[in-house]
Amino acid sequence: MVVVGACRWDNPPMISNPRILVTNDDGYAAEGIQILADALDDLGEVWVVAPNREQSAVSHALTLDRPLRMERLGERRYTVDGTPTDCVALALSNLMAELLPVLVVSGINFGVNMGADVHYSGTVSAAFEGVILGVPALSVSQKVGEGFNFRYAAKIARQVAAWIIETGLPADTLLNVNVPVGKPHGIKLTRLGERRYTEGVIEQTDPRGQQIFWIGGGEPVWKAVPGTDFHEVAEGFVSITPLHLDMTDHGFLKKLKSAELNWVVNDA
Ligand code: MN
Repeated sequence: MVVVGACRWDNPPMISNPRILVTNDDGYAAEGIQILADALDDLGEVWVVAPNREQSAVSHALTLDRPLRMERLGERRYTVDGTPTDCVALALSNLMAELLPVLVVSGINFGVNMGADVHYSGTVSAAFEGVILGVPALSVSQKVGEGFNFRYAAKIARQVAAWIIETGLPADTLLNVNVPVGKPHGIKLTRLGERRYTEGVIEQTDPRGQQIFWIGGGEPVWKAVPGTDFHEVAEGFVSITPLHLDMTDHGFLKKLKSAELNWVVNDA
């Protein structure tokens, strides 16, 4: 039983042709976002507001040091010269403010967003920006490999989106969907897994003899733990992980409170 979240702005229930905001971090021109927008088209009035260039791995960055420009490319189609979070913020606070969307959908990302990678992901962060601003959200990512396509991801995105529109999500929660390469064996509800990069940073020398670094060049390895997103996607299943905005470690908070810490600040 899913409880409809305490959204800051409540859309009337059973609204006909509800608005849906689609964004991504691969940029407006990416194939994944076009396929996603098409897949959601019959669920409501789809608006696309996306970065005008690739913004992968920008996390939840918000542009504060310069003005942002929005360009209208067509009916309900816009680009922003900023981050995925900027796009959602502008869409919800300006463009769509008079009638807010019932759902933010981010993706379909070219590449999976699982485990700790959700913290780097512009795709997942754009969905979280929706959650922060009171709109239920969904992020969708497609594993890249030989023969991959966005077809299955689009199909599951449409079904999950329809379910959220009808049922809602708890406050501060989004659904993070990752899709394997090829025809999925089925769908698994998962938790975040653990991944390690074999070569996190690669050091090289540039043509002028200066030291340079490349981040994230190595082959990723993950712990094969059933029930985690990494494991189930590797096994050929679609992974759906509910993610919560509140990162408080409640268990450790309890331990800290009983630890009788003698830290003192008022005599500084
Ligand atoms: Mn991306």
